[in-house]
Amino acid sequence: RWLPTEDEPRVALIGLGYVGLCLAATLSQRGLNVVGVDTNRRLVDELTAGDCPFVEPGLASLLLAGMAADRLSVTTDYSAVRSADVVLITVGTPVNDDGSLSEEQLHGACAELSKHIRRGQLLVLKSTVPPGTTGSLVLRLLERSGLTAGADFGLAVSPERLAEGTALHELKTLPMVVGGFDADSARDAAEFWRRALGVEVIEVGSLTAAEIVKLASNWWIDHNIALANELAKFCALYGVDSLDVIAAANTIPKGGGNVNILLPSVGVGGSCLTKDPWMVWHSARERGLDIVTAPTGRGVNESMPEYTAQLAFDQLTKLGKDPAASKVAVIGLTFKNNTGDLRATPTEHAVAALRRGCAEVALFDPLVDRDEAERLFAAPLATSVDEAVQDADCVAVFALHRELAGIDFGALPVADGCLILDGRAYYSPDQIASLRALGYHYCGVGR
Ligand code: NAD
Repeated sequence: RWLPTEDEPRVALIGLGYVGLCLAATLSQRGLNVVGVDTNRRLVDELTAGDCPFVEPGLASLLLAGMAADRLSVTTDYSAVRSADVVLITVGTPVNDDGSLSEEQLHGACAELSKHIRRGQLLVLKSTVPPGTTGSLVLRLLERSGLTAGADFGLAVSPERLAEGTALHELKTLPMVVGGFDADSARDAAEFWRRALGVEVIEVGSLTAAEIVKLASNWWIDHNIALANELAKFCALYGVDSLDVIAAANTIPKGGGNVNILLPSVGVGGSCLTKDPWMVWHSARERGLDIVTAPTGRGVNESMPEYTAQLAFDQLTKLGKDPAASKVAVIGLTFKNNTGDLRATPTEHAVAALRRGCAEVALFDPLVDRDEAERLFAAPLATSVDEAVQDADCVAVFALHRELAGIDFGALPVADGCLILDGRAYYSPDQIASLRALGYHYCGVGR
């Protein structure tokens, strides 16, 4: 009912951030006509000039190809929405300090959309929101158009579940969750995703159920990493490598799969895992339920940058070096590998803690926007690994991007007996043995 029966649906995307751009590029690659709308004029100009604003493997070339083929265009002009059959909303949904939704972007997008949508369109929210937001705030704003959901336009929620660094692959492979305002909206949104991305669709009963699915995943991931982080601290008390424990513990069958404890690390960052558990906590609280696991997981994960810095101080001291006279080179500043995204990176806090105890902290990351990183860390970045690690007593690897995988440790100009601090369990036992053979000392979170 809300999709053209013969032609490919034309798509409008509202919000051209990580999610919006990856989706726009992928849909145009799949042969659909896509127009992206964003209120950020500078971003739209940059995209029009052929520049990709952030690092995501494969994205820049896909955007260029879509534009060259005239299947993808970007604009600040909301009137472009009128020609679309399907409108996808991918604006940011940060939280306030109390965990409540900061509504500004979503409110702005829906209020503006209400001036431009027309009868017959299908609107799908992809942003992560607290339960009930689509059925209340989004619906109320869209109906300012004078049109009625279910009668004049379709409305569905399909929360985006991609992970940065592997986003383009995941968009074409991850099952898409769909919850509809009514049965027609759900059916057509499901049909759209099958046709547009060729993915499996999981229909859940309602808009709210779909909203909760996304929160449930991120709540679980954050909490599971918190478990791995506490397990890492626990194993360290006994000198046991937590990765060995996790690998063995994960072989026990449970609930149709296996136990699946994730890996410990310097901390959890990015724009989703750091906020979505708070969305859960705040939403529950508003209805009188006190959720304990979400803030507990957050608390554990937020303790990891400090813990990691302390690990460096302890190991340097054991090696007979004075941390207060030592230099630490931090390699990889983003919240995980293979992305240039610095949002909520735990490395910010790890660097702050290292600075409190060390003589010097040098920084390097080949994927970040240099100006943004230098503002965040209030220091200039080195221009190469060699420059960063010159005479370093410790090299802390916190994000091992593909571009850094080939570091020749034998040729690095580090101080004698340099410590490698592995922030995310990057190095295998064989690699650790090779590092030791080169004269390095090794320690890692949970190792
Ligand atoms: P982002 O901050 O990178 O992008 C948001 C974009 O929306 C920006 O370009 C901004 O200029 C634009 N915008 C803001 N207000 C607007 C308006 N009124 N009209 C048009 N454009 C507007 O956000 P993101 O990381 O792409 O995340 C988008 C949503 O997807 C969020 O809800 C997030 O939680 C969710 N999500 C993100 C990821 C991820 O890895 N980044 C993964 C899954 C889901």
